[in-house]
Amino acid sequence: MLLRHTPKEIKERSALVINPAKTCQPVGAMYAALGIHACMPHSHGSQGCCSYHRSALTRHYKEPAMATTSSFTEGSSVFGGQANLIQAIDNIFTIYEPDIIAVHTTCLSETIGDDITQIGRKAKDDGKVPEGKYVIHCNTPSYVGSHVTGFANMCKGMVDYFSEKTGEKKNVFNIIPGFVEPSDMEEIKRLVSAMGIEFIMFPDTSGVLNGPLTGHFSMYPEGGVTIEQLKATGDSTGTLALGDTASSLAAKTLDTKFKVPCEILDLPIGLSATDAFIDTLRKVAGVPVPDSITYERGQMVDLISDMHQYFYGKKVALFGDPDQLVSLTRFLLDLDMKPVHIVTGTPGKKFEKTIQDLTADLPYTVNVKESGDMFLLHQWIKNEPVDLLIGNTYGKYIARDEDIPFLRHGFPILDRVGHSYFPTVGYKGGIRLLEKILDLLLDRIDRDAKEESFELVL
Ligand code: SF4
Repeated sequence: MLLRHTPKEIKERSALVINPAKTCQPVGAMYAALGIHACMPHSHGSQGCCSYHRSALTRHYKEPAMATTSSFTEGSSVFGGQANLIQAIDNIFTIYEPDIIAVHTTCLSETIGDDITQIGRKAKDDGKVPEGKYVIHCNTPSYVGSHVTGFANMCKGMVDYFSEKTGEKKNVFNIIPGFVEPSDMEEIKRLVSAMGIEFIMFPDTSGVLNGPLTGHFSMYPEGGVTIEQLKATGDSTGTLALGDTASSLAAKTLDTKFKVPCEILDLPIGLSATDAFIDTLRKVAGVPVPDSITYERGQMVDLISDMHQYFYGKKVALFGDPDQLVSLTRFLLDLDMKPVHIVTGTPGKKFEKTIQDLTADLPYTVNVKESGDMFLLHQWIKNEPVDLLIGNTYGKYIARDEDIPFLRHGFPILDRVGHSYFPTVGYKGGIRLLEKILDLLLDRIDRDAKEESFELVL
C-alpha cells in the first residue's frame, strides 16, 4: 500500500511537512482573478510556477484556466523582473486584449523584491496600458499562507484598485463568497436574489469555470464581476464576507476605506451555517425570508430526521481549507456525528480556537491542527479509526490504506466531477452533502453485511 510506512507512533516534528494539506498562494490568486470579467491572471515569476497553478485549476474545474507568465530566466532572477513584466503587459494587451491584467507574485519575484506597484505605474507611464484598461496586483509569496490566503489577497487587490465612494449610498450589498466552487457562487446568488436583495458578488467564477460547451472558444466567458460593479462596491450599504480566511480581508478593507460595514460569516455549508447566512441577510436588508427558502430548509430538516440513525455517533476525520472545515464541523455536529480529527494546512491559530469553541461541549477532545499535514492526520486515524474521511482528492491514499469511506470535498478534486455543477452551500447544497454522506455510510453497511443479514431495505 502507498502509505504503509506511516507509523502509528507520533513524534514531535517542527521542521518537516509531509503531504501538506494546502497548495500555494498564487493558485488562489489566479482563481479569484478568473472571477473578474475579461481579466487575464498574470503570474510574475518563472514559467514552472504558472504551469503548475494553471494545471491545478484546469484539472479541478475541467476547464482551461487562462493565465500568462513573466517567464523569468536566470537574468531576471539576478536583475529583477521589471523588464519582463512591462514586456508581458504590452504583449498581453496587444495579443489577448483583456480589460484587466491581475498580477500575482511568486516565491522568486518576492525574494528578489520586485515592486509591482512601481512597475505597474511605469508600464502606464510608458504607454503600455491602453486607455480604459487596468493592471492590478497582489503579493502572494508562497513561503507564507496558502491558496486560501492567495485568494484573500487578490480580493483585497480588487478593493484596493477599483472600489470608489461617490457619496451616494446604494441599497446594494457586497457578497464575497469565499474560495468555493462556481456552483456554490451560483447558489449563493440564487438565494440572495430569492430574498429580493440587490447585490454585487466578487469574485464570481460562475459562468467562467463551469460554463457550457458551445462549440466556440471564448478567452473571456460571459461570467465574472465587471469593473463597474467593482467600482460601485464602495457605495454599497454593507458587505457579507463568507469565510473568515478567504473573505474578511477585502471586507475589512472596504469598511476601513469607505465605511461600508461588514458581517463576517461562516460559509453557508450545512444547516446552522445556512440559517445564520439567511438570517443575517434578513436582518441587514430588512426583508422577509420567502416561502421558497423556508420550504427548502424544511426538506433538509426532514431528510436529517429521517436518516438520523445512520449519522448518529459516526466518527469523522476532516482536512482541507479552514473556512470549509469550520462549517463542515458545525454540520457534523448538527447531525450528531462525531468530528474527531481536523487538519488544515493553512496557517492561522484562530482556526484551532474556533474548532475548540465549536466542540467544547463534546465529551471528548477533538484533535485539531493548523499548519498541519496529512501525515499527522493519517497517524491520528491509525490511533483512533474513523467511519468517514472528508477532504480533497489527496485523501484517497489514506482512505484506501485504512479502508475508510471517503467524501471528496474542497480543493482540489482531481479524480471526480460534479463539484463545478452541484453546490454544497445553502439548503439544496446541504441536501446534496447529506445524500453523499449517506451513500457512503449505507454502501459500507451493504458491503460489510454477512449474507444472512444483507437487507434490501436499510
Ligand atoms: S511554492 Fe513558490 S515556487 Fe513553488 S509553485 Fe508556488 S509560487 Fe512557484
